[in-house]
Amino acid sequence: MGHEFSGTVVQSNGPLPEGLELGDLVAVYPIVPCGRCAACVRGRENICRNRMAFGYQIPGGFAEYVHVPAAAMRAGNLVKVNGVHPNSAAVIEPLACAYNGLKLIDAPVAKALLVVGCGPLGLMHIRLARALGVEQIVAVDPSEQRLKVAAESGARLTLTPEANTAREIRDFIGGDGVDAWW
Ligand SMILES: [Zn+2]
Repeated sequence: MGHEFSGTVVQSNGPLPEGLELGDLVAVYPIVPCGRCAACVRGRENICRNRMAFGYQIPGGFAEYVHVPAAAMRAGNLVKVNGVHPNSAAVIEPLACAYNGLKLIDAPVAKALLVVGCGPLGLMHIRLARALGVEQIVAVDPSEQRLKVAAESGARLTLTPEANTAREIRDFIGGDGVDAWW
């Protein structure tokens, strides 16, 4: 839907936020929060009742140029990432989602993690979990090719859903099985 993208700041109709200049490469936080509702006040801007998002209410990144509303500029939705490859900058948003998820399950403490689905986001979970020190990562996906990449990314056990998944996981991990799943 065009909510995961990066871009170069090429024009401004008003003053740019401090620290941002024309020519800067930016990654985009796609949700523009209202900053006033109960969710926003609690810091849960992702569930803001009045939120707008690039690729949804605001035209997204499947275009050569994207107009960034003033509300998004004020809310700090543009993050300067000069020096990062634009392709990498475009996936900072899903990477941040994976990181947030791992923080919620206290990943450094979890000893064993189950990742169901090894598309791009599942693979990000595996790589981040390894970086955070999770030793035992089990990956489940119907695609052998994706499981191969999952193993290269740090999964210690890879399974297709046809397998006797629960028993194989318990046999591999021991005890009660995984500490968390994603
Ligand atoms: Zn709000």
